[in-house]
Amino acid sequence: MTVALQGVGVSPGTGAGTVQTMPAPVAEPPAADLSPAADVEAACAAVESAAAGVQADLADAAGHASGTAAEVLTVAAAMAADPALATDAVRRVRELRRTPERAVWEAAAVVIDQLAGLGGYMAERTRDVADVRDRVVARLTGVRPPGVPAPGHPFVLVAHDLAPADTATLDPEQVVAIVTAGGGPTSHTAILARSLGIPAVVAVPGASALQDGETVAVDGSAGTVLRDPGPDDLAAADRARARRDRAFSGTGRTADGHRVQLLANVADPSGAVSAAEAGAEGVGLFRTEFCFLGRADEPPVAEQVRAYRAVLAAFAGKKVVVRTLDAGADKPLPFVTADGEPNPALGVRGLRTAARHPEVLDRQLAAIAEAAHAEHAEVWVMAPMVATPDEAEAFVARCEAHGLRQAGVMVEVPAAALCAGPVLEHARFASLGTNDLTQYAMAADRELADLAALSTPWQPAVLALVQATCRGAAAHDRPVGVCGEAAADPALAPVLVGLGATSLSMTPRALADVAAVLERVTLEDCRRVAALAVAARTAGEGRAAVREALPVLTGLGL
Ligand code: PEP
Ligand code: MG
Repeated sequence: MTVALQGVGVSPGTGAGTVQTMPAPVAEPPAADLSPAADVEAACAAVESAAAGVQADLADAAGHASGTAAEVLTVAAAMAADPALATDAVRRVRELRRTPERAVWEAAAVVIDQLAGLGGYMAERTRDVADVRDRVVARLTGVRPPGVPAPGHPFVLVAHDLAPADTATLDPEQVVAIVTAGGGPTSHTAILARSLGIPAVVAVPGASALQDGETVAVDGSAGTVLRDPGPDDLAAADRARARRDRAFSGTGRTADGHRVQLLANVADPSGAVSAAEAGAEGVGLFRTEFCFLGRADEPPVAEQVRAYRAVLAAFAGKKVVVRTLDAGADKPLPFVTADGEPNPALGVRGLRTAARHPEVLDRQLAAIAEAAHAEHAEVWVMAPMVATPDEAEAFVARCEAHGLRQAGVMVEVPAAALCAGPVLEHARFASLGTNDLTQYAMAADRELADLAALSTPWQPAVLALVQATCRGAAAHDRPVGVCGEAAADPALAPVLVGLGATSLSMTPRALADVAAVLERVTLEDCRRVAALAVAARTAGEGRAAVREALPVLTGLGL
């Protein structure tokens, strides 16, 4: 019998297939020695054969993967091919009589310590060594290898939550849908699923009961997971999937010709190239901190210039909004953020770090200006986490000192939304960061599954803040974009346009869906559904009212 589990739909579309659960993390083997009767040579051979097997598996997986997954797996395969780990582990078995798995663990610890001590790029490789170690130990102890399963056929991935390292190896050709017990609408899992175009439902209470091999049908719009779906459910999933193979024409507008620029969120040069290929009209959010995550030291100006130029080069003649480093909370950068703040989301993050390290912001602005000068994109610059008109004024002045005239602010703190008029007296534009705006308006950590019902930009209170921002901006004739995940929700996009957003910036995968909806509604429709959503009593009621008023969403399979 079909049973429906209800979670929070965070990436639209449907997918059906057999479940593959993420394996539990590999535990540290006990510090045990071989028994006196054990065959030491057989134990040494076991280490060598497990290491060779892991290397072969990784090389094979890299050969079958594409994009980032292929890159990550190739690095891991190279790491596994380095004989240092196996040689030291074999020595530990032979000389110290360690068990094979314990010997591998200890040998890896030495390599990890050495790499960490070298700092910089080498320190970033410690995660790869730990990954190889876990795979070898898993082989030796007979448990499932860590990481995203690779059953060799498409599947529905079920996990408690996905770590950024796991998500790098997700292959959209293989993973037809994602279901997690944890996570919220703006969690990393949700953002990544949308960027890969994989339907996803998070915060599903019964997810941990799903078993490997059982069939489920996942609806990332409705937030449902059907266990043991009937033939009709499976056929509906197939039809909806087929309808979603649409492309973006490269110009966003409503049915009556009202222009809405449809832009891309990018994190690095390769993302910019894919965004340009997807037809994005420009970049509405370049998250510069993502180029340098995990770095212990500030990247030199020349390196920054190279990274920024590569992004700008993909959008010659088009707008690119570069966000200055948004360090802190879920994205710590040790060279500007402090450890040990009791509440990092409310701490010295985003633009606030510039008070303590003004030279880091100045060097970044110098690098952006140099890159802008050398390339042909139309460069806009904005600061994250601006709360007051004074902060906006100071930021704009510093940008101008570097010759960067299009300087604006992100509106992601409720104070900035409520004081948008005075803030936008100085800032040339605003970009609504609805992920953090929702987190701060609802006082709900964006990564916490337990608060997923609160953490949605459909909350009428959040939409009222969007409305206040658009009104404040209109008083100074300033454009307002939306670059939070709300912009990628095809049902919410008309609401944002109706509230006054002039551009929407999203993961490139969402462009075609959002464009398809806008093309089928008028500006008047957008205003009507915006009024419904803001006046709704709850997020759920607002969403239901908008979906009922726009049957085109269901017609498009969204
Ligand atoms: C936001 O907060 O909505 C935003 C776009 O910034 P980030 O998700 O990078 O915090
Ligand atoms: Mg933010």
